[in-house]
Amino acid sequence: MTIADEVAPNVFRASGTDVNVVILRDGDALTLIDGGYPGDVSAVEYAINSLGRSPEDVQGMLLTHAHIDHMGAIVSFHERYRTPVFTDPTEVAHARRDYLEQAKGKDFIPMLHKHGVLPWLLRIARVGATRSLSIDDAQAFGSSGPLDLPGAPVPVATHGHTSGHSAYHLPQHGVVITGDALVTAHALSKVDGPQLLPQVFDHGKQDTVAALDHLAVLNAETIVPGHGPVVSMHISAAVEQARGRSR
Ligand SMILES: [Zn+2]
Repeated sequence: MTIADEVAPNVFRASGTDVNVVILRDGDALTLIDGGYPGDVSAVEYAINSLGRSPEDVQGMLLTHAHIDHMGAIVSFHERYRTPVFTDPTEVAHARRDYLEQAKGKDFIPMLHKHGVLPWLLRIARVGATRSLSIDDAQAFGSSGPLDLPGAPVPVATHGHTSGHSAYHLPQHGVVITGDALVTAHALSKVDGPQLLPQVFDHGKQDTVAALDHLAVLNAETIVPGHGPVVSMHISAAVEQARGRSR
């Protein structure tokens, strides 16, 4: 179990299984950005409790995208507390599972001989990686600009990893929550530092690379990725590294 660590004032990162979740705090009220796998519910709840709050204090939940490792525990909180779930207008249908843009078990068969792949698959299977879940009443967040939620996150359209992927910028803190548009490590990656995910995870590789342009222009020196450690580096430099590695 991890206690949430404060990466900027009232901005907290906590760990699910090989994935990050982010909690924004404004007084007693919270916003939860991504929630880990279905089996990460108690870890997320523990992180919220470590701030002296409970899941009922979460005013809204945001998805960077509707992959099971980001949406899993969100489904449980939504069902238990009816907390609204918001995402990019394009990602809503993905959260509803009108379609699925996610790597399947068979996609990993050619990689099974590689170091770390099998343990990773077993680890994520234990926390529900193969479950099919949906959020039928996921909502599109409104027009551009800061959202009316604790922490006032600003969505940044970064379509590519999934068709409606969104990052979230906290301009007041110089923080960007990049989801899977840019990560800093992954169990299936040999390198550390800013990078794109292994291609098997991306719905559209070209779009994923193009989406980096929307991150590079942000004013942010603290990067909170979907996978890997928080990095203190200007996002434009991180994008440059990720681009270099994607060639
Ligand atoms: Zn993903």
